[in-house]
Amino acid sequence: MRYSQMLIPTTRENPAEAEVVSHRLLLRGGFIRKLTSGLYTFLPLGLLTLQKVAAIVREEMNRAGAQELLMPMVQPADLWQESGRWQKYGAELLRFRDRHQRDYCLGPTHEEVITDLARRELRSYRQLPVNLYQIQTKFRDEIRPRFGLMRCREFVMKDAYSFDVSDEAASKSYEVMRDAYHRIFRRCGLDFRAVEADTGTIGGSFSHEFMVLADTGEDTLVICSHCDYAANVEKARVALPEDGMAQEEMAPMARVATPGMKKVERVAGFLGTTPDRVIKTMLYLADGEPVAALVRGDREVQSVKLKNLLGATEVEPMPDDEIWQRTKLPAGYMGPVNIGIRLVADQEVMRMVNAVAGANEKGHHLTGVNPGRDFQPDLTGDLRQITTDDPCPECGGSLTLTEGIEVGHIFKLGTGYSEAMKATFQDRDGTEKHFVMGCYGIGVSRVVAAAIEQNHDEHGIIFPLPLAPFQVIVLNLGVNSEATSRAAEQIYHDLQAAGLDVLYDDRDERPGAKFKDADLIGIPFRVTVGRTWEKEGKIELRRRATGETVTMDYDGAVGRISAMIRDELAGQR
Ligand code: ATP
Ligand code: MG
Repeated sequence: MRYSQMLIPTTRENPAEAEVVSHRLLLRGGFIRKLTSGLYTFLPLGLLTLQKVAAIVREEMNRAGAQELLMPMVQPADLWQESGRWQKYGAELLRFRDRHQRDYCLGPTHEEVITDLARRELRSYRQLPVNLYQIQTKFRDEIRPRFGLMRCREFVMKDAYSFDVSDEAASKSYEVMRDAYHRIFRRCGLDFRAVEADTGTIGGSFSHEFMVLADTGEDTLVICSHCDYAANVEKARVALPEDGMAQEEMAPMARVATPGMKKVERVAGFLGTTPDRVIKTMLYLADGEPVAALVRGDREVQSVKLKNLLGATEVEPMPDDEIWQRTKLPAGYMGPVNIGIRLVADQEVMRMVNAVAGANEKGHHLTGVNPGRDFQPDLTGDLRQITTDDPCPECGGSLTLTEGIEVGHIFKLGTGYSEAMKATFQDRDGTEKHFVMGCYGIGVSRVVAAAIEQNHDEHGIIFPLPLAPFQVIVLNLGVNSEATSRAAEQIYHDLQAAGLDVLYDDRDERPGAKFKDADLIGIPFRVTVGRTWEKEGKIELRRRATGETVTMDYDGAVGRISAMIRDELAGQR
């Protein structure tokens, strides 16, 4: 492709709206343009990159035995009513009516549509297992679209759905996808981890998130330094030590004045104790209803764990200025004794003896508070945030925290959808059985952003070779010299003939501008035809990632460069 004929509107200024580096560089490099909140146009360079990701995903899905199809983006409401999600999905589901006043939504995901297809087309166990996937545009009316391609309203997803005869067979399908995902992200050239995303009540790990490691990730992961345990902190299990119960006589409860002592540390200091002996009471709104969550004073509530424990759809902290109005409780002095609203306690709190807690009276706390004796929670469980002081729940080893970007998610669904939608097949023994399902997503467009978050420097993007829109950029630094231009043009043609993706910078621009743009758009290999060619018949090859530069004879250069690129790509397979 000739640079002069391609729309690559690079800019030098940093766009003010871009908070993260991938967003900034995608705009500056001329990969994307914003239409409006959460909606982006993929410009030619952006689309080529997206297609590189999609091609790898497609190849590995096919290799794993999945079949590609394409479902409509617009979905009828009745399917969602059947599954029960028309009510449950919330505001991310964009709903609308057609001219006949029928309800529809824009597909945020396709479990309903695929289950409907399965119940019509898959009638016998002989047709199973089946794994069907598509690479398609999704719409989710995200509450806060941000970070460019990272969290859009409209984005490209690969979604796959497996159908099996039994739970055991479904687990096999799951494992096949897990392997495929490892191959996909390895082939993309990304540093990633598969983390346990759900330990639910089924037991075992039947949901994994694939995380690209990057400082700007929205997710925090814990990784064990000894075994291969890795989990999202939202779900990471906190192991309770077996000998955790304090051996102490229960004291009577007493009310003490603690004026101005709203913070745990201050109360503890004032009463001559430590934060781990204080019960911290936090108020939340769970689907609009007030709930009090208890953790030890030196711990933090993990709101996703709280949400799961409550079985709620949405959990958010109650704003301080609403606490009094909604509950008649004094912020800063709340405690579990006679609190009068739903109470959920972390497992660790239940082991505390003679704790300090708010008295539900302004300027007062209670001492000698004993769970079980002085209050009884409605629910107890693991609801606090794991820390690096906690042991690995698998092996007891030490944990580290790191940031990650979720690029993929695999999930064993079971029979939830097939039961709700009466999707059955005839098994070998003649009985009708529900399909056992799995679903497997990849944020294809988010992978582009994640790759950049992980691979960039102050000059621009450093694309991993497999994802780069072009593998090589040829810079003609002598556009006004016929001989130099002919030599550059020849290299461009020969590299293309060797099967490489080549961008040829034939613009009448200063060398400095060409170098800058080449660095900004992150093409892995740069070939310069300029003065050294004119003087010595040599060209220069530079690697974007390392800055490593070699000068080589013009003759034979194409063979050397294409061999180098091929070797590197083969290594990633
Ligand atoms: P998140 O927690 O980031 O909102 P999710 O759990 O809603 O993700 P899934 O429903 O599992 O995501 O979707 C599959 C994949 O689609 C995700 O792993 C992610 O890579 C991608 N994805 C989800 N939402 C968005 C979005 N708003 N913009 C871009 N990609 C997205
Ligand atoms: Mg989401």
